[in-house]
Amino acid sequence: MVTEQTVLDRVPRGLFVAGTWRASASGAAIAVEDPSTTKTLVDVADATVDDGLAALDAAAGAQTQWAATPPRMRGELLRAAYELLIQRAEEFALLMTLEMGKPLAQSRGEVAYGAEFLRWFSEEAVRIAGRWSTAPDGATRLLTMKQPVGPTLMITPWNFPLAMGTRKIGPAIAAGCTMVVKPARQTPLTMLALAGLLQEVGVPSGVLNVVTTTRTGELVRALMSDPRLRKVTFTGSTPIGQGLVRQSADQMLRVSMELGGNAPFLVFPDADLDAAVDGAMLAKMRNMGEACTAANRFIVHESLADDFASRFAARMASEVVGRGTEDGVTVGPLIDGQQLRKVSDLVHDATSRGATVVTGGSTTRDTGYFYEPTVLTGVPADADLFREEIFGPVAPITTFADDEKAVEMANDTMYGLAAYVYSANVSRVIRVCERLDFGMVGVNQGIVSNPAAPFGGVKHSGFGREGGPEGIEEYLDVKYVGIAP
Ligand code: NAP
Repeated sequence: MVTEQTVLDRVPRGLFVAGTWRASASGAAIAVEDPSTTKTLVDVADATVDDGLAALDAAAGAQTQWAATPPRMRGELLRAAYELLIQRAEEFALLMTLEMGKPLAQSRGEVAYGAEFLRWFSEEAVRIAGRWSTAPDGATRLLTMKQPVGPTLMITPWNFPLAMGTRKIGPAIAAGCTMVVKPARQTPLTMLALAGLLQEVGVPSGVLNVVTTTRTGELVRALMSDPRLRKVTFTGSTPIGQGLVRQSADQMLRVSMELGGNAPFLVFPDADLDAAVDGAMLAKMRNMGEACTAANRFIVHESLADDFASRFAARMASEVVGRGTEDGVTVGPLIDGQQLRKVSDLVHDATSRGATVVTGGSTTRDTGYFYEPTVLTGVPADADLFREEIFGPVAPITTFADDEKAVEMANDTMYGLAAYVYSANVSRVIRVCERLDFGMVGVNQGIVSNPAAPFGGVKHSGFGREGGPEGIEEYLDVKYVGIAP
């Protein structure tokens, strides 16, 4: 029987270091909050810097043997983890909803999505290959091999507590890298439960270590200054990512950065309007808008704008806001008070500059961090909503008259993660896709995330790719050996 109490009772609350669960050296704890009630769910260990270094000791100690473990064995461990995660989908989904807030149906979706990275990379583990060739002058033979990068620090955000972890852990295990994972302080429980599951399927001691902490900056700096660490992979906000790139220079670490987004959602005059509204709901409301790929700017051809806005607003108004565990709820709370204030301030800024609220526009309850699904029209180009990542259920709409202008507006951002294009004209789609400065484009679909595809951005959205055949390359170094024949 899966109940709130049983999943909370089962989740480990310590630090996972060298294959064992332990308390923090200081004995301190982090209270994990339910964002729909603001009540504490449970406490977990608050790691000290020394705890973090102990996790790195374990990862560094396990690296050589792990790299020599047969790829098939690494793949089979991932496959077993995939199977067990699917078996426990209901427990993981409920745990995620409790700490993060999203409705249960969406948490189930994330479990399926997150698990798929384990399955995908279980299949990639045995496909790591190099090259053999003869030098052009015939004097030497060139052997190119791929080897694990080594101990990796993984820093994950709160918005997809499982999938943002498996997207890193899957390829690292497949490639033969050991790791220290630091989940976001708001949502450590899902990652701790995942560590328990990986331990259960037999991932060897030291390969995966998890530290939860509030001393994040200090702990991460200590690990990144240690020459035994060889890579840092980060998913989170752009300013923190920029700081980590700077810090990575001292030890010349391999770096992957999955950062913020400001996705345009373009609707051209030949678009199927019903499909565009469906896609808009998905691109905006998945995760209550708290997704790096969330549509942030709706850029709609002027011939369709009124119709699009009224249909979209009707759909947004019919969403059911509430605690994610309740039947029928489609929109949960935002993650915390800071995020709620940010969303509220962004809407206020837009209305003070002349935008019109078509639906929503305020918080919904006295307790919990709930905000109404909101549609705004007539949003001026200089509104903060268009510049900043909203990370909430707010959809600002603006219009364009010709394709050239639409592309220009879409590219007018420092971010370059995801974009969406709705059009029935293949030539227009190709033309626009080629001109968009984004790492991913959804064409006539409101979702781009797929474990078999390379997820990632350009510009201030970062670099590196997660998922697809590209995903494992982030965890492999190339070595060339010249051999005299
Ligand atoms: P965040 O504030 O940058 O935090 C992300 C992670 O970084 C957390 O684990 C956080 O730990 C840690 N962190 C904070 N300060 C740090 C420091 N000084 N050094 C090292 N690590 C530090 O971002 P967030 O609010 O959790 O997540 C939302 C952001 O993530 C959005 O910008 C979103 O677009 C982005 N995101 C991007 C992708 C993508 O694939 N491109 C996917 C999902 C989310 P604490 O919790 O302890 O502060």
